Amino acid sequence: MKLTFQETEVRRIVNVRRHADAWFWDRYSALPYVGCRSGCAFCYLRSGRYLRGRSPDEFDTVIGVKINAAERLRRELPRLKPDVILCGDWQQPAESRYQLFRKMLEVVLEAAFPLLVVERSPLLVRDLDLLLEIHRRTHVSVLFSLSSPDPKVKRVFEPRSPGIRMRLRALTTLAKAGIPVGLALMPVFPHITNRASLRELITAAYEHGACCVVAGMLTMEDLQAEWTLRALERGWPELVPVWRRLYGLSSAANTAKTSAGKESDLSALSVEVARTVREICQQIGIPDRLPRPVWQEERTSNRRLAEHFHNRAYTLELEQASPYRVWAYRKAAWSVDDYPEDVERLARSGGEKALRSLPQVGPGLAREALQWLKASGHLS
Ligand code: SF4
Repeated sequence: MKLTFQETEVRRIVNVRRHADAWFWDRYSALPYVGCRSGCAFCYLRSGRYLRGRSPDEFDTVIGVKINAAERLRRELPRLKPDVILCGDWQQPAESRYQLFRKMLEVVLEAAFPLLVVERSPLLVRDLDLLLEIHRRTHVSVLFSLSSPDPKVKRVFEPRSPGIRMRLRALTTLAKAGIPVGLALMPVFPHITNRASLRELITAAYEHGACCVVAGMLTMEDLQAEWTLRALERGWPELVPVWRRLYGLSSAANTAKTSAGKESDLSALSVEVARTVREICQQIGIPDRLPRPVWQEERTSNRRLAEHFHNRAYTLELEQASPYRVWAYRKAAWSVDDYPEDVERLARSGGEKALRSLPQVGPGLAREALQWLKASGHLS
């Protein structure tokens, strides 16, 4: 299969989130390539909003290369408030040829931003020296993505991605060097990934040095859904109508969402998977959430309290609590995160009453915040 590189100059490289992500904790992201040679059928980068008009058929044959990615990053980062930046795409052969990520890591180090990497490629180990320097200065978390231990799943959905053993070996190398590295168990395939495969993968990652697991169900968006269903047809044709029903996709070729979408079935299945992952992780002794990096003294208690509220929201989702309660925790987490003063100082000055002055934090959450600040040693 012929591979072409299409070099472009971009005017912006950093995407900014309104709030820090509740799973990965990143506020920013920057990617230097569009398209990927591995061509995984389920890749979320295949959806229209990432392709931006490029042909989906060329996703794995024409790789867009943002050749000024590092220069743009050097201009943009100093204008942003330091927070976690998600970078990750050591794809082959583009990265071996252009080394754009290596150059971007140098900028992340200079700007003293903490880094999150979510990656399938073991080529990442090439840049261990820089990762360690960033980790010494701020913080680095790495998540290696693995979706299933079953070779058929790999063959059908990600035939050209790096081998599972190679990824596990890279995970060990990073962990031994002192980088916190976890497993991104993504995507979980409905009715294909089962309890045994979840356990096998989590156990393997743990034995190779993973310090946490973050699991996520397969998403299906426009063009990405089309490619994923085509792959499913090759491996598990009997599941095609099942997935279509589950994701509320019409049987038309464009896989448009139908009004008869079965979101409740999908969310029930997601909860079931998340509970199973939590149970296995508890048995093995590994967290099922990525610990939030804290790399600076300033407003540490805000970040930690926001993490606590986000984790509570996640647990409530697993307990299928009312969406109102889940959202109350989520909004409180955002509010604490964005609050310009240290919440620890606020609590010291006026206790629960002062915490109630935080936007989106009512009496119950203010009480919980105070208890949590005391229990976690922020208020002694
Ligand atoms: S290796 Fe990662 S970026 Fe490349 S196609 Fe697969 S999921 Fe997408």
